[in-house]
Amino acid sequence: MNKEVLNPMSKIPATDKRRIIIIGGGFAGLELAKALIDTNYQVVMLDKNNYHTFQPLLYQVATAGLEPDSVAAPLRESLRGENFYFRMAEVLEVIPQQHQVKTDIGPVYYDYLVIATGSKSNFFGNTDLSEKTFTLKSVEEAFELRNHLFNCFERAVEITDANLKDELLNVVIVGGGPTGIEMAGALSELKKKLLPKEYDTIENQLMNIYMVEGLDDVLNGMSEFASEKTRAYLEKLGVNLKTGTFLEDVENGELSFSDGTTLRAKTIVWAAGVKGNVLAGLNEEKVEKSRIKTDDYNRVLGYENIFAIGDVASVENEKGPYPMLAPIAMQQGQNLAKNFKRLLKKKPLKPFKYLDKGVMATIGRNKAVVDLPFGFQFSGFPAWLSWMFIHLFFLVGFRRKAVVFSNWVYNYFTYNKSTKAIITSK
Ligand SMILES: Cc1cc2nc3c(=O)[nH]c(=O)nc-3n(C[C@H](O)[C@H](O)[C@H](O)COP(=O)(O)OP(=O)(O)OC[C@H]3O[C@@H](n4cnc5c(N)ncnc54)[C@H](O)[C@@H]3O)c2cc1C
Repeated sequence: MNKEVLNPMSKIPATDKRRIIIIGGGFAGLELAKALIDTNYQVVMLDKNNYHTFQPLLYQVATAGLEPDSVAAPLRESLRGENFYFRMAEVLEVIPQQHQVKTDIGPVYYDYLVIATGSKSNFFGNTDLSEKTFTLKSVEEAFELRNHLFNCFERAVEITDANLKDELLNVVIVGGGPTGIEMAGALSELKKKLLPKEYDTIENQLMNIYMVEGLDDVLNGMSEFASEKTRAYLEKLGVNLKTGTFLEDVENGELSFSDGTTLRAKTIVWAAGVKGNVLAGLNEEKVEKSRIKTDDYNRVLGYENIFAIGDVASVENEKGPYPMLAPIAMQQGQNLAKNFKRLLKKKPLKPFKYLDKGVMATIGRNKAVVDLPFGFQFSGFPAWLSWMFIHLFFLVGFRRKAVVFSNWVYNYFTYNKSTKAIITSK
């Protein structure tokens, strides 16, 4: 199949080697591709962006702590090899019968296909909310939120109507998971340090940060210790917590909650759920709760040569489905790469086993929680230092690590956020 010269747009040369197409250069796809470069496969990566997004730090882009380039690593820079090809292309559909994917630059054929398309925000069917809230899944979204926040501050400075000022300065975060609490912590710092220093008519108590969580506690995926500590940190930071409460509706800038209360706010951040980025064309019976069902070898159920890894995949075993986390995506990419190498040697495949090294979340300066395996937990400054070290370690590229580190050091001592400019194309 891959001996044909393919879509002339893509100019991927014909070869005798078997072609693996990887859709998505996120945590899973990047690990897989790195390990397969210079093997006896032709590896083609397709991604709608020409960069890898380091999602765990997107909230810092949205709150002016880091510039967008710090979390966007160009894929061509990270992946170079004789048999490796990158094409910036959005995959529109998989056509398994023809071993082909349909993309916005034309069709591309595969011998093996790996779907590593990650996840997207889940509004649980409420499309209205998707139009009225900000999300934090991509660099563009984080940048858009930053522009919006600083626009609100600029407008609030010159407005005398107290109600409108409140509305401009109220921020509602929907979802008390890691993204929500990280966002709340960073916004609290803006409120405490930046507003009084740089915005002359906004006293910091005017900015109100609300967090709405449907369950009875925050950080529900972590230990009780982490959850309780986080609640205490958020309260200390002055975040108004509404647990056991849902955002039900947003009408003309007024938010209605399931506890009967209402509130006006110009900024609503949706951090309440994600679902797999499933592509059209696969048998729908192999998709469950918006994730693609795979066996222990990450092979999509019912297909011999299609695999799925990372957030989009749901491993069908007694432990699965695994949570949508970067280390799981990376380990799946690494295991699948080893299995592709085994296939070349006609050796049996090895099942994926997740090695849990712990989970962590930060709630702002000097505050974080860490859950390690075997029930070890810690919080506070040491947890925050560990969080910073781990995130720096996994950032792609030395220059990016150096820039982020220097930004953090500068911010820590000066409380000065470096990227507050409102930059729009309009
Ligand atoms: C704000 C935020 C904070 C997070 N914080 C943490 C954290 O602290 N710790 C942690 O472990 N996890 C965290 N996560 C989760 C973690 O980022 C994900 O688990 C991880 O990114 C999953 O990796 P992936 O490779 O499956 O998908 P992704 O990293 O999302 O990559 C998917 C790739 O596929 C591409 N793509 C998608 N659709 C198509 C298409 N149709 N055609 C072509 N390309 C396509 C995308 O452009 C993207 O590059 C966070 C997530 C978010 C959003």
